[in-house]
Amino acid sequence: MSRKSFQQYDLSKEIKKALLNLGFESPTEVQEKVVPVALEKRDLVVKSPTGSGKTAAFSIPICELVEWEENKPQALILTPTRELAAQVNEDITNIGRYKRIKATSLYGRQSFERQKIELKQKNHVVVGTPGRVLDHIEKGTFVLDRLHYVVIDEADEMLNRGFIDQVEAIIRKLPLNRVTFTFSATIDEEVEALCHKYMKRPLNIEVNKNGLTTNRISHSYLQVREEEKLDLLQGITTVENADSCMIFCRTKEKVDTVYKKLADHHYPVRKIHGGMVQEDRFAVMNQFKRGKFRYLVATDIAARGIDVDSITHVINYDLPLEKERYVHRIGRTGRMGKNGKAITFLTPGEQNYMDEIEEYVGFTIPKMLPPTEQEVANAKTDFERKIHSNPKLKTAKHETFNNEIMKLYFNGGKKKKLRAIDFVGTIAKIKGVSVADIGIITIQENLTYVDILNGKGSLVLREMKTKTIKGKQLKVHQAKK
Ligand code: AMP
Repeated sequence: MSRKSFQQYDLSKEIKKALLNLGFESPTEVQEKVVPVALEKRDLVVKSPTGSGKTAAFSIPICELVEWEENKPQALILTPTRELAAQVNEDITNIGRYKRIKATSLYGRQSFERQKIELKQKNHVVVGTPGRVLDHIEKGTFVLDRLHYVVIDEADEMLNRGFIDQVEAIIRKLPLNRVTFTFSATIDEEVEALCHKYMKRPLNIEVNKNGLTTNRISHSYLQVREEEKLDLLQGITTVENADSCMIFCRTKEKVDTVYKKLADHHYPVRKIHGGMVQEDRFAVMNQFKRGKFRYLVATDIAARGIDVDSITHVINYDLPLEKERYVHRIGRTGRMGKNGKAITFLTPGEQNYMDEIEEYVGFTIPKMLPPTEQEVANAKTDFERKIHSNPKLKTAKHETFNNEIMKLYFNGGKKKKLRAIDFVGTIAKIKGVSVADIGIITIQENLTYVDILNGKGSLVLREMKTKTIKGKQLKVHQAKK
């Protein structure tokens, strides 16, 4: 099916250029359905499978709709995990790069003060987890009077148990004349009704009505006793010899145990769970996205929304006890037209949960037999070769795009009374450089970062070494971050 190219959409040239550079030529199905109506500022309840391009479906209209001149936040995107907030922030920044959209992330276990300072600066979009967002709203550090757009990503998780009180408290504080979008792969009628409670005559958009999962994933399950799981995992991973694999467990203790076993056997493996410090969680996720190791053992914090290119296998070491979690976990594979395998371990006594999952996804998951000793032995050589070879590094998403951008550091900021206009004025006067080559400018007390776009970074860096800004000679170099 041929779809209209993004270049034919009613979008500004800055957004179109960013989409072109990201390699987003034509919209995915959900984007095709969502973008035009979102641009008309309709409230939307969107249900679309994992990996179908949901993030861009709301990020494109949000980036288009926010007004650059307005300094206060105009859009709020709520996500259930910090990892997902960071990922959405990156997507917004990439899509809004040429419009110079500034996005800020707010999540726990990061300095409140630092976030407060960021919120005092120009901000178009705030992406965050509910607890910290509410904290900033209640303390008055996140000003809401210009907020026009709200996205509740992974809506069913956000309007459920742990989050609902905080999310409702946030929504109650938001201006009434706002546009609200909710997105998820799994929304049941109850949650949908709840969505409607906060929205004005929302339009329901459903993609892939025939199923919750893509048909690019092959599903199977194995029967196993709890005490045999570790051995079975070794056998299965040897025979499957995955390029890139996520292994989900129900608890962090389980993650630790499985991780240790695999690490002891020299698997290129890392782990992620909520008991780890945030920096380590981010570092592990980033390395996995780059393909630095092949196996990631995780709790469900890594199940929702996380977008890693080309995961070939998802193994449910523990059966998820909630049917929705099955869909989200296995949705880490089979993304954007690629194939994937989902293998689930089932212990005696868990059949009821499995029945529920099957009913939910709408098909029977075939049983597979554990590999025989002979099969494992036959696969050993290839397996050993792969785990001891360096994986081919994946280009981090948008890396080529980011090559065109250089972030410059200047050792002067607010204290020297410098404003964005002062930087723009000086830089745009350089021969061969125009305002369109200047990206996001972040001014702090004693320093300023300026993104230089379109591969003009080296030229601007060289020229700025001898030029003054508002009569001040500043030190300038390429920023480390
Ligand atoms: P999501 O479902 O939002 O996690 O997106 C899945 C993946 O598809 C991400 O890696 C996106 O960068 C990518 N993607 C989203 N929209 C498009 C598009 N229109 N063309 C190509 N890739 C896309």
